[in-house]
Amino acid sequence: MNLNLLERVADQLRTGLADFEPERMTGADAARMLAGFAEIEKLAAGGKLLSARRVESSNVWRRQGHRSAAAHVAEATGSGLGPAINALKAARCLGSLPATDDAMRNGRLSETQVKEIAGAAMVQPDAEQELVDAAGKQPLNVLKLRCRRVRASGTDQRQAYEKIRRGRYLHHWTDDDGAVRFDAKLTPDEGARLEAAVKAETRRLAAEARRAGCEEPARALAADALVGLACRNATPERPDGSSSGPATMVHVRVDHEALMRGHLEPGEICEIPGIGPIPVDVARRLAADSILSVLVTDGVDVTSVAHAGRTIPAAVRTALIERDPICVVPGCDVREALEIDHVLPFGNDGPTSLANLARLCHWHHYLKTHQRYRLARVGDQWEWQPPPAADHDRVAAGPSG
Ligand SMILES: [Zn+2]
Repeated sequence: MNLNLLERVADQLRTGLADFEPERMTGADAARMLAGFAEIEKLAAGGKLLSARRVESSNVWRRQGHRSAAAHVAEATGSGLGPAINALKAARCLGSLPATDDAMRNGRLSETQVKEIAGAAMVQPDAEQELVDAAGKQPLNVLKLRCRRVRASGTDQRQAYEKIRRGRYLHHWTDDDGAVRFDAKLTPDEGARLEAAVKAETRRLAAEARRAGCEEPARALAADALVGLACRNATPERPDGSSSGPATMVHVRVDHEALMRGHLEPGEICEIPGIGPIPVDVARRLAADSILSVLVTDGVDVTSVAHAGRTIPAAVRTALIERDPICVVPGCDVREALEIDHVLPFGNDGPTSLANLARLCHWHHYLKTHQRYRLARVGDQWEWQPPPAADHDRVAAGPSG
């Protein structure tokens, strides 16, 4: 192998790809092309790992101004630093893993497979051949599981567990879109507990969503389930209907005019300090959920902290639970984890009195808050009204600020 050969191969691939039109191919030919490209990718991955090892041992990374060999590899391959560190770790092992090295040079292993096998075979060299064979026949997730088992059998279990336990964390940040993201590392038992709880709550929410006619992917329901589980405990609704007041608070900074109007005009703000902007109707919903302190502002100065209507008096709450044992939307029979809705929203000076409160399931609460469905009291009955036709475009476009 030399540089000239590598350049010729790359040139030919580039020329071929320039007028590659898979749409004109039969499906069977496309499948053969896919397999061919996958093989080239695997061969290239082998070449990358072998070269990366030499980049590290030769110290060329230092001369080229990189902070580490991994940083050099990350920049050269367009990968993250984490994957580059793992690639170098695997590359260093290859010298003592002949079966893996051989399969890799033959284009039979992807980079991920090499990393998995190397990590496990270094702990238990006897298992190497078996893992290389498995890589050719079994899907990646099965290979990963086998590698985990091999690693586990070669290490002190208690020590391994303790290492995870000491390294456990929950981390959150706001991404560029303004979304809050979470990342957590848990011990297997705590992870399994959380997973089981989230799954059960997800199933319950899925059944509710179906009944309310909301289509939501399972991963979205799982996110709702996590929030619901965590926050329900933080704001307990006691069986007797009394409330000790919210255990957690979300602060929202919003212009008074915007809160009353229901949407933002240029120059106004509605945001969770330290996290970012939220739509005004979300602020109104939070206000009704008793977990919010609204810092009503006039420009940048906080002019008042609005509290009226947030904490529902225990007697009103008791009466409400008594009156609305199930979601008040006609036909809905959800009776768990009901949310309290201010029928006339807080921002419209909706009072915190029994007449202006109703218990809704999560979905009907969502439809009312964000999709402009309405709840009206007609005599002693509740009426559920879909958005007016004129609103249709705004509904289709989703909630607006
Ligand atoms: Zn409902």
